[in-house]
Amino acid sequence: MVGENHIDINALESNIRFYFETTAQTFVRYNTSVTVTELNPDQNVKYIGLWDAAASNRQKANWAAKKTVVNHQILFGPHAGFVVTNEEPTPQEWTNAIHGVGAAQTTARTAIIRKAQAWAERVQDEFFAMEDQWVRDNAPTDTIIAIHYYHPKYSPDDDGETTVWGGYTNNNWLVVNFGRPHDVHPDARWGEFEGTSYEEGKITIPRITDSTGAINNVRTRVATTHEITHGTRSFFHRANIRNDNPVDPDNDHSSSNTGLMDPTASQFQFNQQECKILKGETR
Ligand SMILES: [Zn+2]
Repeated sequence: MVGENHIDINALESNIRFYFETTAQTFVRYNTSVTVTELNPDQNVKYIGLWDAAASNRQKANWAAKKTVVNHQILFGPHAGFVVTNEEPTPQEWTNAIHGVGAAQTTARTAIIRKAQAWAERVQDEFFAMEDQWVRDNAPTDTIIAIHYYHPKYSPDDDGETTVWGGYTNNNWLVVNFGRPHDVHPDARWGEFEGTSYEEGKITIPRITDSTGAINNVRTRVATTHEITHGTRSFFHRANIRNDNPVDPDNDHSSSNTGLMDPTASQFQFNQQECKILKGETR
């Protein structure tokens, strides 16, 4: 089976050293090995966040299906704390939400929003659990792993666009939120993850593509550098990048839009604070 090669191309030491050796501030050189390990075919799934080691096809089916009975306490957003006992909206709730007026419409929409929020949180919880399981089952230590994608809701493919909640182009009153900057419709794709760093030097990088579907090599190098930098926290036992943040002292990201270690890796260079921390200073 042919595996992914976006990391073979982009994580070479010669390709990423530019980011670590800027303006004569040589502080970290990350030597990536030339050794490429091909995973076994049954480890090579499209979405590691749908990994089910026990299933015959290793890819969990029907992830978007609703359960008729659940008891989920909402964690995020304006309805946090509310317990949803059943995610399936009733026909009357849909009718009132779309065609109703006044209090009847408001009540029905609130009920459906809570159910959608519970569904979305459970889908995401399951994604995180299965992603972690894939890494535990398949990822060697000290490795950068070229994965295909994390989960349909976080890939550039259209697989994550569902119609469980009426379709994302309709019902613009229906949004969910996971504590991220933007609300999303539960049927839409929820975003795109460009990399994750785990314990034991394990790093996963998905296919990052441009509008034509080709691998975006520049973006892949930035995302890889960002995740490798997270990895240096455990390798070197260094301070957190944002070690002056009293609200979240464990935060290993810079303040938004200030350097390569901001939460979305929006910059192409490390800022002064990041350079200091990477050189071993504590502030
Ligand atoms: Zn990060």
